[in-house]
Amino acid sequence: MLMADSLGELRDSLTGDVLVEGDREYERARLCFNLLVDRRPAAIAHCVDANDVAAALSFGQARGFEIAVRGGGHNPAGHCAVDDGLVIDLSRMRDVRVDPEKQVAVSQGGATWLDFDAATQAHGLVTPGGVVGSTGVTGLALGGGIGHLTAQYGLTCDNLFAAELVTPAGEIVRATADENPELLWGLRGGGGNFGVVTQAEFQLHPLERVVGGRLEYEGEGVVQALRLLRALSSDGPRELSIQAQLTTDESVAPKLLVVPCYTGEDEDPDALRPFRLAPGLVSDSVRHHSFLEQQRIFDPGYGVDRNYWKGHFVGELPDELIDDLLGRITALGRPPGGILIESLHGGPKDVDPASAALGYRHAGFNVSAMASWTDPAHDEESIAWARETAAAIEPWSVSGGYANYMQADEPIERVRAAFGPDAFARLQALKSRYDPNNVLHRNQNIPPTG
Ligand SMILES: Cc1cc2nc3c(=O)[nH]c(=O)nc-3n(C[C@H](O)[C@H](O)[C@H](O)COP(=O)(O)OP(=O)(O)OC[C@H]3O[C@@H](n4cnc5c(N)ncnc54)[C@H](O)[C@@H]3O)c2cc1C
Repeated sequence: MLMADSLGELRDSLTGDVLVEGDREYERARLCFNLLVDRRPAAIAHCVDANDVAAALSFGQARGFEIAVRGGGHNPAGHCAVDDGLVIDLSRMRDVRVDPEKQVAVSQGGATWLDFDAATQAHGLVTPGGVVGSTGVTGLALGGGIGHLTAQYGLTCDNLFAAELVTPAGEIVRATADENPELLWGLRGGGGNFGVVTQAEFQLHPLERVVGGRLEYEGEGVVQALRLLRALSSDGPRELSIQAQLTTDESVAPKLLVVPCYTGEDEDPDALRPFRLAPGLVSDSVRHHSFLEQQRIFDPGYGVDRNYWKGHFVGELPDELIDDLLGRITALGRPPGGILIESLHGGPKDVDPASAALGYRHAGFNVSAMASWTDPAHDEESIAWARETAAAIEPWSVSGGYANYMQADEPIERVRAAFGPDAFARLQALKSRYDPNNVLHRNQNIPPTG
C-alpha cells in the first residue's frame, strides 16, 4: 500500500503519470499476457524517459518496494508484475527512429514489434524479431530473439549493437563494442539483469517481401513434415527460416502447422517444394507477400489465456523424439496448447559465439511445450502436462531452456545451463558491478557473486 505522501513524492518526481488501485486504467495496466499471473502492484510508474526511470528506481529502493520492469508485458513468467511493489512501465517509451542511410534503428525501451516493424518497413528495412507484434522489442532482444528471419540474419540480440541503460544506482550507461563491451556482451542474452534499457540500437537489413504463410498437416503428414523439418538442422538454407507448431484437431488427433519464411529470389522456392508436396497437407496459404503480412501470421489475443511453458534446445529431431511429441500432444484427451519447434539453422551459427552471453547457438531446434488454457480448473493438469512434455524432450537436450520462454519457477541450474558455466560466471561478475543488491531480480535472475 502506497501512503498518500509517498504517492505524491513519486508523482512529483516523474514527468509520466503513476497509476494506483482505484485509477481507471489500473486494472488493464497491471495485466500481463499470461492470465495465470494475477498481481496487484502498489504503483505503476509510466516513465517517459531515462530521468523518469532513474527517479522511479531511486524511489522504489528508498521506500523498500520490490521493483518490476515492464516492456511489452509478454514474458510468460509474468516478471513485469509484482504484488505490492513498483512497476517501472515503459509503455510510453515506444518511439523507433530509423536512419535509412546507415540502416540502423534506435528503439525506445518499451517499443513493441508492431512499432518497430511499422517504422523500419516504411524504409523497406527489417531486423530479425519476434513473430507477435505486441511483444516487447527490448525484452525479446535481451533474451536472444527467435523469429521469421533467424536463419537469414541471426538472433535478434546478434543485431543489437548498442544500448543505453539506467542502472539501479541511477547512472546512465552506454554499451557498445567500444564503450563497456562486456556489458553489451551480457545484454545479448542476459536479460534485464543489469539496468533498465531506455534505448536499444539495431542493425537493419533491406527486405520488403517474403514467400511465407501457413502449411497445415494432418494424419500421416504430421510425421512426414516433422522429418522434413529435421533435415534443416544439417543443410537448411540460409534464406529460409521455419517454425512449426504441433497442436490437435477437433478430434484431438495431432495436427501440424509449419510456418516458413523464405527471402530468396524464387517465388516458388525449391527449398519449400518437399513441404508443399508432402502427403497429409490439408491447407497451404504460402505465397509471396509483404513482410508485415508475415508478421501477422501468429496473432494471439493479449491477456486471454493462462500459460505455462517449458522446453529444451535439442541437437536434432530423432524419430523417438517425434514419437514422444505425438504421444504428448494427445495425452490430455483435450487440446493442451501446443509444442513449438523453432529451427536454429543458418544465421545464429554464422555469428562469433564469443559476441553474446547465450549458449545455445549450436542447437538444431528449440522445442517448447506451451500449455495454454482458459479454465482455472485446468491449472494443475495443464502445468503438469507442460512439465511432463519437457521431461520427454530432456533426453535430447543440448543446453538449458530458452530464457525468453521460462516460467518463474525454473531452478537456477536451468538458467546457468542456458549460458554455460563460464558465461554464467562472467554474467554474475557483470551483475555484481551494475546491480550488486539484485534490485532487478524479477527476471531470469543472475544473482551477483557472493
Ligand atoms: C505471444 C508471445 C509471443 C512471443 N514470441 C516470441 C518470438 O517470436 N520470439 C522470441 O524469441 N520470443 C518470443 N516471446 C517471448 C518473449 O520474447 C519474452 O517473453 C520477452 O521477455 C518478452 O518481452 P516483453 O518486454 O514483451 O515482456 P515483459 O514481461 O514486459 O518483460 C519481461 C522482462 O524483460 C525485461 N525487460 C523488458 N524490457 C526491458 C527493458 N527495456 N530494460 C530492461 N529489462 C527489460 C525485464 O526483466 C522484464 O521483467 C513471445 C512471448 C509471447 C507471450
